[in-house]
Formats: sequence, C-alpha cells, structure tokens
Amino acid sequence: MTENGKNKRKGFTKGYAIAIAAALALIVVLLVVILNMPKADRPGTEKTPGNVVILSPDASGTKEVTPEPPTATPAPSPTEFVTPSPSPTEIPTEIPTETPSPTEIPTEEPTAEPTATPAPPTEARTPTPRVVDGTTSANPAYEGKRLVALTFDDGPQLGATEYMLDVLKKHNAKATFFCVGDQLKYGPAAELTKRAVQEGHQIGNHSYTHPSFGKISDERILEERDKNNALIKEITGQTCTVFRIPGGYRGKHVRELINMPIVSWDIDPLDWKFLNSDYLKKYAKENGMSYDEAESRWIDIILFEGLYTDLDGDYIFSPPVAGEMKHGSILLFHDIYPSSAKAVDRLLTYLEDNYGNYVYLTFDEFILTENDAAIPGTIYYSMWRTTPSD
Ligand SMILES: [Zn+2]
Repeated sequence: MTENGKNKRKGFTKGYAIAIAAALALIVVLLVVILNMPKADRPGTEKTPGNVVILSPDASGTKEVTPEPPTATPAPSPTEFVTPSPSPTEIPTEIPTETPSPTEIPTEEPTAEPTATPAPPTEARTPTPRVVDGTTSANPAYEGKRLVALTFDDGPQLGATEYMLDVLKKHNAKATFFCVGDQLKYGPAAELTKRAVQEGHQIGNHSYTHPSFGKISDERILEERDKNNALIKEITGQTCTVFRIPGGYRGKHVRELINMPIVSWDIDPLDWKFLNSDYLKKYAKENGMSYDEAESRWIDIILFEGLYTDLDGDYIFSPPVAGEMKHGSILLFHDIYPSSAKAVDRLLTYLEDNYGNYVYLTFDEFILTENDAAIPGTIYYSMWRTTPSD
C-alpha cells in the first residue's frame, strides 16, 4: 500500500468515527427527549379506549348506552380502584365495586349513562348497614327474629288485593304495596289502598302508567313519578317515600333521576308467570286437572320444589321460595292475582309452623332496623345489598 493510500485510509477512518459519534449523540438526545415526555405519549405505551373512558368519564355525554351483562364490562386495573371516593367527580369508580347478586342484577351499565341534571349531594352517600348478613335481627326490638319485607306490585286490583289484605291480617303481617296510578285512580280500587293504609301497610310508587323506564324521556319519568306521588297523597293522605321501577329496570341515570329510595327484591316467586289465571287455565287443560288442582300444584312448585324456567332468554333454576326465605329478604309478589294471595297464605303458614320467628314489616320499618333511613337514588335488593354500594 502507498503512503498516499495510507493517508486516504486514515482520513476515511477519521470521518467514519465522527459520523458514528454524531449518530450516538443523536440517540442520546432522543432518549432524553423521550424520557421527559408524559407517560401516555411515549412511543410503545398503549392508549386503550378503556383507559380513556375510565380515567376521563364524560358524565354529561348524550350517547345512549345499551346495558350489557357484567361480563362485558372491561376489567379496570385493580390498583386504580382500590380506594373509591364518594366525591361526586369520581362517581364512575363506584361501578366496578358494585356487588350485584348473581341472579337478581343481570344488567348494570358498564359505563356512566348520560345525566341531564347533576346528581344532588345525597346520591354520593352510600348505605352503611350496622350489621351485614345476620341470620336474625341485631336490633334489640326484634331479638331472635328474621325480618322480611313482603312487597306487592301492580295493584290495587279489585278481586285480588282484598284477598291479599285478608291473608296479611290473618298472619299479622305488614307489607308494602307498590301501586300503579292507572289502577289507583278508580274509586273502588282506591278504597282497597285506603284499607291497606288503615291496616298498617305502606304504599309505594310503581309509576302512573307502568311504562318501560329505559325507553322514555327524562321528562316523562319525572311525570310518572310526580303524578303518582300526588295521587297517593290525595288518596291516603300520606307522603310516598319509596319507588319501584316497572319491570325492575336498574339504569344508573334513571335511579338518580327518580331520586327516591328504590326497592328491588332478592326473591322473585315468579307468580306473574305461573300464578296468573291464563297460565293456570292452560296448564289445567293440558294436564286434565281442575283449575284449583293446577293452582295448588303450581303453588307447591313455586314454594317448595323450585323449577327450571326461561327468563330473559336464560334457562335458569328458580329455587323454592320457602328455602330462600332469610332474615333481610325482600319478596316480590303481585296483588293482581288471587292465586298469589293463596301462595302467600301457604308460605306464611309454613314458616310459622316450622320456624315461628319471621316478622313481616313495611319497607321503611324493615330498612330502619339495621340501616339509617333509605337513601334516594339507591336500589335496595335486601336489607344489605344495594346499588351503589361500597
Ligand atoms: Zn310492575
């Protein structure tokens, strides 16, 4: 190799080293820039739609949210939700902490529903029962007793409600009747509701016309609530303190809009399905029975045997009501079927004969035994199970 060639090679090598040094310097500068970026903007950090929804909830959005089963809810990172705060701005964090009963609360929204009006401060409160899951009452006034709230929907109905009132009187039981305004506005039916109040029962609001609350406007929901509250006041002289949403609808926006304590249930005897007269007539005919035999058979099935049935597209086992009765339960019956009155009579007789410690109270009395007064916008499934809950 010549001298000239060596120099050329030296110059080339030197230039090459400078280029490498420059490239390294550039990489260092880039690294410094990247490390100083906010975490979410760094290359390679995934911004999932889930993070955006949960960390920046838009409670004032107007998008209609279709309720989905809880399984469809994206699981939030546990570290982000271990300390939910009741502060109104953080209300969406309550959703992952809800503890719905597996069979009773199939459709809670995964995200916040639109809210037309800001939630009043009372809705940020959560119920704090003094005792949870007791087998008998912890209230000294009911020592050793199992307290139950019997509730009746869709009445008053001439030819049915009076039988239910007779059965309750026979068993010294108090209950809560969730009346529909369209039923209550008729004089003779209104007399049954007056009688219910005279006999110590509570009257709840089950809307004026029993529409589907997931499909009507906010204005209509408030009208359904207010018109029936006014009618109940006019007929009974009492201020209505509890609401039951038709069809058991449980949307967050709707319950906050209603802004009254909402009574749900943990035991559904399915009387609306199997003790209505059309079904019993059909069953009697198909099985070569009398109507009374069909009715008696179905009361037995509901109370003592349980059954597999199709509900909301799911084929499920509905356990026998007598076996489900526990301290703190809320039962759902309907006082529009005479057969339901017979079923309640059989159930209460059975519990008296076999246990003797069940006490049936109006909802307001029941909830006060182990809770503070019921909270507006909160759904009560039992003495202890609520939405929202902490
Ligand atoms: Zn109803």
